[in-house]
Amino acid sequence: MDQQFLDSMRVRLAGRTKRQLIEEMIVRSPHVGAKEKLHLALQEYPLFLLMMARDYPTKIWILDKGERPTSADILSDGARQRRWHSRGIHLDQCDGVVDVIDNYVAMVVSWKTLLIIRHEFAHVVTTFFSPKTRSQLAALFEKAKMRNYFVEPLAAESLGEYLACAMSFYFFPDLREDLRTVDPDLHTLVGGILAEAEEISAQISSVPAGVAGA
Ligand SMILES: [Zn+2]
Repeated sequence: MDQQFLDSMRVRLAGRTKRQLIEEMIVRSPHVGAKEKLHLALQEYPLFLLMMARDYPTKIWILDKGERPTSADILSDGARQRRWHSRGIHLDQCDGVVDVIDNYVAMVVSWKTLLIIRHEFAHVVTTFFSPKTRSQLAALFEKAKMRNYFVEPLAAESLGEYLACAMSFYFFPDLREDLRTVDPDLHTLVGGILAEAEEISAQISSVPAGVAGA
């Protein structure tokens, strides 16, 4: 891995922990339990991806039970009015949404389940994919559409959903097995993306040789 890149990322991380990075993204939580659930969900993500999201920056708004996504004031009016997915559902029928605004990424999510939180954060992570990763993903999505074979109907909706379903499934052993069975190439691609991010994380969170003091 490129040493200059790793050095600059280490400087940028400046010793921040996963907990700090997640904490800094939360702009609204209804109560402490909801916030802790979000920490639990997101600490499965590699440190490097959490840093990329935090620094973009990403703002996370946690909804309480019964609260509607449109109530989150970090969303754009466009997102509030848009019809989502092929069924044309209204935002308030979704458990969460990620919207790229001019100068930040907005993630609005119910704290209901770890799967939903990890799914929405996968949409955030997609924002930072390289053109190479995007084209690999697009090729697999085309193949999956031809076979019409997906881990869940939502995954067939778009490239973004295809990836978000796969990446969130990857964090649960039983769901990961489903993914491996249904779409082995996608399972391999997601595994590779996460493994590379973990490798970078390990490099940038360790003290480089020769720098450690007595
Ligand atoms: Zn989604």
